[in-house]
Amino acid sequence: MALIVQKYGGTSVADAERIRAVAKRVVAARRRGDDVVVVVSAMGETTDDLMRLSSEVSGGVHAREMDMLLTAGERIAMALLAMAIADQGIEAISLTGSQAGILTDNTHGGAKIREIKGDRVRAGLAAGQVVIVAGFQGVAPDTKDVTTLGRGGSDATAVALAASLGADACEIYTDVDGVFTADPRRVAGARLLGEASFEEMLEMAAGGARVLMARSVEFGRRYGVPIHVRSSFHDRPGTWVKEETMEQAIIRGIAHDTSEAKVTVHGVPDRPGVAAALFGPMADEGVDVDMIVQNVSTGGHTDISFTVPKEVAPLARKVAERVAADIGAQGVDVDENIAKVSLVGAAMKDETGIAATMFRTLAEHEINIEMISTSTIRISCVVKGDQVDEAVKSLHDVFEPPLLVGDGS
Ligand code: ADP
Ligand code: ASP
Ligand code: MG
Repeated sequence: MALIVQKYGGTSVADAERIRAVAKRVVAARRRGDDVVVVVSAMGETTDDLMRLSSEVSGGVHAREMDMLLTAGERIAMALLAMAIADQGIEAISLTGSQAGILTDNTHGGAKIREIKGDRVRAGLAAGQVVIVAGFQGVAPDTKDVTTLGRGGSDATAVALAASLGADACEIYTDVDGVFTADPRRVAGARLLGEASFEEMLEMAAGGARVLMARSVEFGRRYGVPIHVRSSFHDRPGTWVKEETMEQAIIRGIAHDTSEAKVTVHGVPDRPGVAAALFGPMADEGVDVDMIVQNVSTGGHTDISFTVPKEVAPLARKVAERVAADIGAQGVDVDENIAKVSLVGAAMKDETGIAATMFRTLAEHEINIEMISTSTIRISCVVKGDQVDEAVKSLHDVFEPPLLVGDGS
């Protein structure tokens, strides 16, 4: 008998019929003799709808109340699923993040899981129940307030729960067949991956492949929980994300991200301490900075560009303008029409010429590269937002991922 954690995303529980279908799948696993913990997201677009509603009610920032509002979405889905499972003759109990003992820090909107108590989850399992836990939420013990983990956070709930319960696997049920070589909704020729390493999936997720939240992959890697990403619409296997893969990939996939904006501080005096003067206050304000590029200095001045999530761009601009005035820089510019395109593959580190081919391909399509960053297994370029589809498709055509070691030789 195995213990499995199954997570169902928004589309998978979008309406009554889908909830009954999920219930059927859960009941089938339970009847096979497995212990089952289910993590649910809010139904369909509920989270977006609630966010829109809040902006119609108020223009202010209400971090605590926002979390109170958004956690309601998952609460609806979990209760309905418990009812649908009970209807099929299996006992089920739904628990909020707080009831499940998911303890977080008190960063509203982006809380980190600190500890999972899980007493009631274990008690439910011991009593033979299917235990349903609301995804994306926890409670901060300091303030006793409910928190949310950031968009896509139900994935993190699921993998963290799987780790803390010592589950045999974590199944992420979603609206596509698994992890593809590129977003299957953008690239018609994208291929389903049988497997990807934690390392690769982490870079894909950080690069914008939202099929798994990056933090869930981190939990998987840290605690050795294999993650099976698969469709909630049929029974075929999807993608296994795990430590070791059988096949080594030079390019496992191509990710893109349109959620960031580029901030440029112009005419920064080129002297020690200016980067610290800029990024210190950014960190203090909680601005999550991704890529950073400092241009070559001309006449003692330089430009510094960096990317931030679009929703914090106004705050980043404010902080940058304040710092620019302090250090005698010329001005600040924010460009929201950008996108990041990333090539990811663990065997890339042993190959030469990948970056050159990437840059040449983009050039051939008249796509200008505004920023570049690399890790040992990833190359990312920032390009114009309206050229992102062409960038991803042309790179997918040229590299034909998964480009495995030994392919074609
Ligand atoms: P869920 O609601 O199940 O959590 P998400 O919308 O968060 O689903 O994630 C699934 C979506 O991720 C897919 O519909 C797909 O458009 C997108 N996606 C982006 N990149 C990839 C990729 N490389 N492989 C699969 N899906 C991807
Ligand atoms: N409902 C939340 C969101 O839309 C969490 C999730 O779906 O994982 O981001
Ligand atoms: Mg998701």
